[in-house]
Amino acid sequence: MSQPSPQTFEFQAEIKQLLDIVIHSLYTEKEIFVRELVSNASDALEKLRHLRLTEKEIFDDRLDLEINITTDDKAKTLTIQDFGVGMTQAELIENLGTIAHSGSKAFLKALGEGNRKDASLIGQFGVGFYAAFMVAKSVKVYSHSWRSAEPGHLWTSDGGGSYSIEESPGQRRGAKIVVELKDDCSEFSQEWQVSEIVKRYSSFVSFPINLNGKRVNTVQAVWLRGKSEIKEEEYTEFYKFQAHTQEEPRLRLHFSADAPLAINALLFVPKENPEKLGLARSEHSVSLYCRKVLIDARPKDLLPEWLRFLKGVVDSEDLPLNISRETMQDRSLLEKLGRVISKRFLKFLEEEAKGRPDSYAEFYKEFGIFLKEGAALDFSHKDQLVKLLRFESSLTEKGKTTSLADYVSRMAGDHREIYYLIGPSREAIEAGPYLEGFRARNLEVLLCYEAVDEYVMNNVHEFEGKKIQAADHADVKLSEVAAPEGALGEAETKKLVSWLKETLGSRVADVRASSRLVGSPALALNADKGMSPHLRRMMKALQKDAKDSPLRVTLEINPAHAVMKRLALSSSESPEKARLVAEQILDNALISAGLLEDTTGMVQRLYKILESV
Ligand code: ADP
Ligand code: MG
Repeated sequence: MSQPSPQTFEFQAEIKQLLDIVIHSLYTEKEIFVRELVSNASDALEKLRHLRLTEKEIFDDRLDLEINITTDDKAKTLTIQDFGVGMTQAELIENLGTIAHSGSKAFLKALGEGNRKDASLIGQFGVGFYAAFMVAKSVKVYSHSWRSAEPGHLWTSDGGGSYSIEESPGQRRGAKIVVELKDDCSEFSQEWQVSEIVKRYSSFVSFPINLNGKRVNTVQAVWLRGKSEIKEEEYTEFYKFQAHTQEEPRLRLHFSADAPLAINALLFVPKENPEKLGLARSEHSVSLYCRKVLIDARPKDLLPEWLRFLKGVVDSEDLPLNISRETMQDRSLLEKLGRVISKRFLKFLEEEAKGRPDSYAEFYKEFGIFLKEGAALDFSHKDQLVKLLRFESSLTEKGKTTSLADYVSRMAGDHREIYYLIGPSREAIEAGPYLEGFRARNLEVLLCYEAVDEYVMNNVHEFEGKKIQAADHADVKLSEVAAPEGALGEAETKKLVSWLKETLGSRVADVRASSRLVGSPALALNADKGMSPHLRRMMKALQKDAKDSPLRVTLEINPAHAVMKRLALSSSESPEKARLVAEQILDNALISAGLLEDTTGMVQRLYKILESV
């Protein structure tokens, strides 16, 4: 029986244009052609699965729904075979010869709009079947449609302007695509290379993928299944696979949404914060999928910076054909997706904080720094983030924390501002002179131990209409309390204050009597507006060589303290010695404030004071 000879057809003009770009582009991630061909195979299997519900007569109906990939490194070929719906001759012409495909269309459109040469778009749009021509000398498609009526066909092209089709009897149902590789692309005929690529992009395809007879995809796309049917171990297994770790996750959020976008997301917080160990800054690693196929493993524009500790996947059907960083519209789509996810995750944290405070506290210890970063810098999520912040306070036990909301709920009487103090530890702050005045008036003070806290508090600035105020700032006005018995009288105090001002000269901006001190003789308040002691130290550390702005502090003294009473006496009786003591008191106050910059003079002075004892 004679068979008709091959027939030659011209590609449609747009396809020619597309092929020209694909073949001549310097696009480096050529491997995505595997993703495209596997996705097509998976689509074809999916279509067959649907057909089986309604059609009785299906060619080769016994065949399993699977994808078989084979590599031949001698012949330099890669073959991808599926037992899906296949194509008739008319369908081969229609589907592979004309541009029905929306991804390729969108790709061409994006190129038309701007940068014609920007081949980096190939990966994001997926130019579908034609991606094979990035690596192929020739592509052969053997196919038999699920309809029994006509024989199998072979479609062949070398990516030039035309392709040919001939009959090819004896084909099984589906499509078998043989890619004959260009010499410089022969790596795609090596099993281990192809295995890596399939795992990277196509691990979650629902049909079995066998590579040279071995199953490649063993982990399921759990995120698309109903929560109730997923076992804890499956989640954990998936996390370990996706995050490349042996650890279990710390927290998990699995959710789906229909509006404004169709989203299935499965997010994890790891056990530990890698940045805490001083390792490199984390990169976003919530991967973007479209119907189980990887679009971008590390999308940069999806989530806000402070969510870079999250792991997991986001799958949205609405995305793939539109993703490109080039057009505003597409970026806004990604942003929209990111907003939904961020909001949902913040809500999840709120629920955690409320429902499982201990676990939240553990999370916060590890990852609170990211929430602080967000509260300080991400204006659009600030309000939600500030509610999630936790601090120790003068009213909590050591190691226990409070939220700003709880702090505010405890504010009573004329307590109007949210006070905080920054120091290296609870002990250090409690031993310093700043807390005692607040304690004496029952005013709660948040205790902050992290270098960024100052910056965060300054940026957050207020909460529920209450100003957030550094307790060691000169502006803080505390209510009067009755002077304790035995304190210096008003006139004596005045005299001592003006003597101190004169004696300390330019080292102080001001000296004043204070009622905020209880057990300490004096304290130093920063007179520089907006520049707290800690900020000052940080600035100094950052710009070692910059010229110092002279330090100016306000010294507040405690007229009830024994040291001050003694000083009042000796300032007239033995002024030389009193001067040394005054200088030393200022230095002590500067030490407590973390502001003493030069200790050499102090040591000499201390010896002089000691001599006179
Ligand atoms: P897309 O998959 O986005 O439609 P492609 O360029 O990847 O675009 O493929 C074009 C068309 O070719 C598909 O829509 C499909 O109709 C057909 N096709 C490609 N591969 C196969 C296959 N393995 N089995 C059946 N049809 C296929
Ligand atoms: Mg496709």
